[in-house]
Parts: sequence; C-alpha cells; structure tokens
Amino acid sequence: MEQRLREREIRYTSGRRVVVAALARAEGPRSAAELSTEIGAAVPLSSLYRSLAVLEDAGVVVPHFGARGLTRYELADWITGHHHHLICVACGTVDDVEILPEYEIKVNELVDLIAQLAGFEPRAHDLEIEGRCAKCS
Ligand SMILES: [Zn+2]
Ligand SMILES: [Zn+2]
Repeated sequence: MEQRLREREIRYTSGRRVVVAALARAEGPRSAAELSTEIGAAVPLSSLYRSLAVLEDAGVVVPHFGARGLTRYELADWITGHHHHLICVACGTVDDVEILPEYEIKVNELVDLIAQLAGFEPRAHDLEIEGRCAKCS
C-alpha cells in the first residue's frame, strides 16, 4: 500500500495512516461519519473526507454503496482479501464475510452462469446478503 501511494506521489500522512488503520480494524465497510466517531478528534471530518477521496483515487479504498444510499468505505480486496457482505436491513450495519475456497468456486460458477446468460463478461463480484444481523433478529 505504501508503495502504491509512493508511486502515485501521494503522501502517506499521519491522518491518512489513522484512516487506513481504522478501516483495517473495522469488520466491514464504514461511512465517513462512522469512521469519524471511531477516530475522534485526531482527524477532523473535512480532512477525513479528503483522505478517503485521495485513498479511493489511489485504489487503496473502495466505496460500498449500501442500503439507504449511504456510502461506506473499505480497504480494497487486494489488501484485505476477497470477501462478501452481509447487510442488516434493520440497523444498516454492513459486515464482511469470507467463505471457504470450495464455496467461492461455486459462487464463481454461478456468477459466470448469470453473466453468460446476459452476454456479460464478468470481472469481479461482491455477493450481498440482505437480512437481519444477530443483534436485530
Ligand atoms: Zn442489525
Ligand atoms: Zn467488505
């Protein structure tokens, strides 16, 4: 990640480090407001937004457009590994979920099949399961 930022001549400032660390600790995509609550006064909201935009441009952070039109952010798959998402329709929490490689193969087969039927060339996928989280059910 540091190399990617260096190549793009983006400074890995202390504020950006704090944002990346908070995203690394999170168990799913987080909105700017959620990150701000966790980080506290260390990074003002305006520079938090700026950091997310810069990190997104660099391909380090990716947006997740979840339920209720709220944009949440997470570290890119090339940093954290491929995974899917569980979205709680009651509280809006989005959690990461990783599945066993043998199940990932099945998901890939299904994705290929769906894409093929639509004449679509698949490049990536993100399975989103909507429902109620353990706390809300
Ligand atoms: Zn919930
Ligand atoms: Zn995720």
